[in-house]
Amino acid sequence: MDKIEHIGIAVKDLETSNALFETLFGAPPYKEEAVASEGVITSFFKFGPNKIELLAATSEDSPIAKFLEKKGEGIHHIAFAVTDLKGEIARLKSEGFRVLNEEPKMGADNKLIAFLHPKSTNGVLIELCQEAPAESGS
Ligand code: ZN
Repeated sequence: MDKIEHIGIAVKDLETSNALFETLFGAPPYKEEAVASEGVITSFFKFGPNKIELLAATSEDSPIAKFLEKKGEGIHHIAFAVTDLKGEIARLKSEGFRVLNEEPKMGADNKLIAFLHPKSTNGVLIELCQEAPAESGS
């Protein structure tokens, strides 16, 4: 794994939290993006080499809605950048980690992503992400 790519924070209301974090970081989010397949809307903040992703639910059966219900707002996941996502998935599976996505899927911010189940990582939801190849228009 190369580095922490970003930290994801689950929030109830994206607009309210965008304003809060804009004040905290001194800059607005550089993008806002919905991931329909996940039922989430995200925003991304950047300062120096660091990125923070805010995630809010857009549907009641969204994983973020379930997380907020169970745990409330707070840190949702830590994302690590990898250069060979498929290879990492295979390696971590063989090491006994529970990989939630056997095949990389498209996430926000032009990333191919896969998650590790928090039950196999001391309660921390871990996202692996790899820069997706240039937009194919799909
Ligand atoms: Zn993320």
